[in-house]
Amino acid sequence: MVELTAEELKQHFSDKIFKQISETADELGLECYVVGGYVRDIFLQRPSKDIDVVVVGSGIRMAEALGERLGNGAHVSVFKNFGTAQLKYHGVEVEFVGARKESYTHDSRKPIVEDGTLEDDQNRRDFTINALAVCLNRARYGELVDPFGGMNDLKERTIRTPLDPDITFSDDPLRMMRCIRFATQLNFYVDDETFESLYRNKERISIISKERIADELNKIILSPIPSKGFIDLDRSGLLELIFPELAALQGVETRNGRAHKDNFYHTLEVLDNISRKTDNLWLRWAALLHDIAKPTTKRWDPRAGWTFHNHNYIGEKMIPGIFRRMKLPMNEKMKYVQKLVSLHMRPIVIADDVVTDSAVRRLLFEAGDDIDDLMTLCEADITSKNSERKKRFLDNFQLVRQKLKDLEERDRIRNFQPPVSGEEIMHTFGLQPCREVGLLKTAIKDAILDGVIPNEYEAARRFMCQRAEEMGLTPVEGA
Ligand code: ATP
Ligand code: MG
Repeated sequence: MVELTAEELKQHFSDKIFKQISETADELGLECYVVGGYVRDIFLQRPSKDIDVVVVGSGIRMAEALGERLGNGAHVSVFKNFGTAQLKYHGVEVEFVGARKESYTHDSRKPIVEDGTLEDDQNRRDFTINALAVCLNRARYGELVDPFGGMNDLKERTIRTPLDPDITFSDDPLRMMRCIRFATQLNFYVDDETFESLYRNKERISIISKERIADELNKIILSPIPSKGFIDLDRSGLLELIFPELAALQGVETRNGRAHKDNFYHTLEVLDNISRKTDNLWLRWAALLHDIAKPTTKRWDPRAGWTFHNHNYIGEKMIPGIFRRMKLPMNEKMKYVQKLVSLHMRPIVIADDVVTDSAVRRLLFEAGDDIDDLMTLCEADITSKNSERKKRFLDNFQLVRQKLKDLEERDRIRNFQPPVSGEEIMHTFGLQPCREVGLLKTAIKDAILDGVIPNEYEAARRFMCQRAEEMGLTPVEGA
């Protein structure tokens, strides 16, 4: 964070739009402040997004007057029900709201709202660092109003509620998710008292819609070091409530002196690893879910030790249920996550052995256009503490990647369609859809993937005829 003198802070409000707001406010005789994220982000030197303005009085009246003053190029939308108005002007978005006082009932996060002072308005904000306000009226232009020590918390990188945290969180439990989200995004600590209150109020999360929770979760996942957020979610007891499958990955069991790894911490390490390589939200989700079926598939085998057979396929099957419950999209994004989870063991198996053309071709065939993402996931999955073992895997992955490139140039396997279609097989041998057609199709596909024949029409046709003859099929006249 940067420290700014009063004069330097004022400089951050030198844009024309702030001057215009200032003059309008003075003309109407209304107190008016920039508040919240915009002010916080000046000190954190983060790119600022929309501007939020609090007016002591009617935000709507203020926005309408400003719209008139700015004339052409300004567009005002009024949301009467919320008492807010939005002004768009040359790509800048300003949200106007009247200062308000809120009181809550126990079963809803929708408050009873009354007009209030700036102080009332700051009291209802979620965190001290989000309650900073800068006055825009001419007489006090650029003056910082910081009643809760938000500046000090910025300096000490602390997330703290302005009021008693039990009140702030119980009033609107979404703030518990926002608390951990901001701590993760900004790499801040959650103040002890605030953190303890998360634990006390965790059950209140049940009144928040799944969509809002998913939004915050996605922001945590897209943070630079997402593990931090999941560790806080876990320690506060929220994880168990919003994402029990992930919480269930925790723990280590030992039998006959053999322990398996803690799959929760392993998963978080994989998520952090992949987050250094990609900002693709769904690839990060695939990392988070890649071992999700380990608890259900865990077995003890006296000879082999701990096993997790088919955890990739079972994991793939668990994903629709998880996405549906969490109100995540049930579309091609989910299918993509499922595919990566189901295939996540394949490159490792290949890289653990001799890297054959045939194995790499099959991998390319199944992964199609997602092959690069799959390789990124697999590399992130190598969390071995044994540096020699780790190096061996990563070197072998390089080899797999090189082979993928060579084969792709030679065979065009990605998005591969067998060169002889089922229709052609039926037509050639005068067959209706039947088992033989399927057998022939699979035989052709396997022959290509195993490198027995090239991925070309003539070769595939010849191979088909040979195989058909062995099966006792004869071509029909003229086909
Ligand atoms: P970002 O937009 O980067 O996520 P932000 O701080 O601007 O961060 P918004 O959700 O845009 O967050 O909200 C703007 C401001 O409104 C916040 O800074 C905070 O003062 C207030 N606010 C938003 N949501 C809540 C809430 N649930 N409870 C209390 N105050 C809130
Ligand atoms: Mg914002």
